[in-house]
Amino acid sequence: MLRAALLKLSDSKRLANWVTTNEKTRKMSRRFVAGEELADALAAAKACNDMGMHASLDYLGENVSTTADAQRARDAYLEIFEAIARERLHANVSCKLTQLGLDLSSEFSEGLAMSIVEAAARHDNFLRVDMEGSNYTQRTIELVKRVRMQSPAVGTVIQSYLYRSEQDVQDLLAYGCRIRLCKGAYKEPEEVAYKSKADVDNNYVRLMKMLLTSGFYHGIATHDPKMIAATIRWASEKRISKDDFEFQMLYGVRTDLQRRLVRDGYRLRIYIPFGRDWFPYFMRRLAERPANLGFFVRNFFRK
Ligand SMILES: Cc1cc2nc3c(=O)[nH]c(=O)nc-3n(C[C@H](O)[C@H](O)[C@H](O)COP(=O)(O)OP(=O)(O)OC[C@H]3O[C@@H](n4cnc5c(N)ncnc54)[C@H](O)[C@@H]3O)c2cc1C
Repeated sequence: MLRAALLKLSDSKRLANWVTTNEKTRKMSRRFVAGEELADALAAAKACNDMGMHASLDYLGENVSTTADAQRARDAYLEIFEAIARERLHANVSCKLTQLGLDLSSEFSEGLAMSIVEAAARHDNFLRVDMEGSNYTQRTIELVKRVRMQSPAVGTVIQSYLYRSEQDVQDLLAYGCRIRLCKGAYKEPEEVAYKSKADVDNNYVRLMKMLLTSGFYHGIATHDPKMIAATIRWASEKRISKDDFEFQMLYGVRTDLQRRLVRDGYRLRIYIPFGRDWFPYFMRRLAERPANLGFFVRNFFRK
C-alpha cells in the first residue's frame, strides 16, 4: 500500500514543487541523483569510470506538455553526447520518450529521438530509451523498432512485471534490438502486470535466459542478489562470456554489490540521473524500498 501511495504521489505537481525547492529535500535527493547540472553527472560518471564501471547519463524529465520543453530536452541530450566525447567518458545515455513529447504526438517524439540517435551514432555511442508506465509500452516499442531500422545506436527496456514482455522480447530481438531488462517501477493494474514478487522474479529469470542466449549484447538491470546469481549461473552453464552482457544498477543503490561485481570481473553500468526535475524519479526510488522513506523522514526532522 505504501508503494502504491508513493507512486501516486509521484504525479503530484504541488508536492513536486515544494520538495524540489526545499533546501533540505534537495540535499537529500543527492542519495539517488548526481546533482542538478550536467557537470555533476559528468563528475559522477568519471568517478564510476575510475572504479571500473561504465555509466548511463539520464537528464531527468518526463511527461512534458509543450513542444518547446521537448525540444529543450533534445538539445540537452545532444550536449550530453558532446560532453561524453569531449571528456572521453565510458558512458552512454538514457532518456524517456514522454520527455521528448510522446504525450503530444508519436511522430514529433520520434523526430526528436531520431536526431538524438543520429548524434549517438556520430559519436559511436548509444541511446537507451527507458520504459515508462504501461500506457506507453506499445508506442515506445513501435517507435524504437522504427528508429532501430535506421540505426543500431538505439535500444530499449523490458519490464518483467508485464505479462506481455516475453512477446515484446521476441519482437525486439527480431529487430536486433539491444534490451535492458528490469523488473518495472510503475504502478500497474493486475490486468497487465504480475503482482507477486515471486511471479515478477520468475519472469525476470525467464527473460534473462532469452536475452543472454540471443547473441546480442544486453543489460541485466537489478540490485536483487537472487537475479544476479541466476544470471551468473546461466551464463556459466551456457558458456556465455562475461564480456557478452553487462549488469546495470542505479546510482546510489547497493554500492557494495556494485563493487563486488566489478571485483569479480563482470561488466557493470551505473545509471546516473541528473537535473532539476528529479521528483518523480526520487519517489519511485522511495517506493522500491519502504525503508528509504523512514531514512528520509528521520533525516528531514533531524536538526
Ligand atoms: C539501470 C537501471 C535502469 C532502470 N530503468 C528502468 C526503466 O526504464 N523502467 C522501469 O520501469 N524501471 C527501471 N528500473 C527500475 C527497476 O524496474 C526496479 O524498480 C528497480 O531496479 C528495483 O528492482 P530490483 O531489480 O533492484 O529488485 P527488488 O526486488 O526491487 O530489490 C532487490 C534489492 O535491491 C535493493 N534495492 C532495490 N531498489 C532499491 C532502492 N530504491 N533503494 C535501496 N535499495 C534498493 C534492496 O536491497 C532490495 O532488497 C531500472 C533499474 C536499473 C537498475
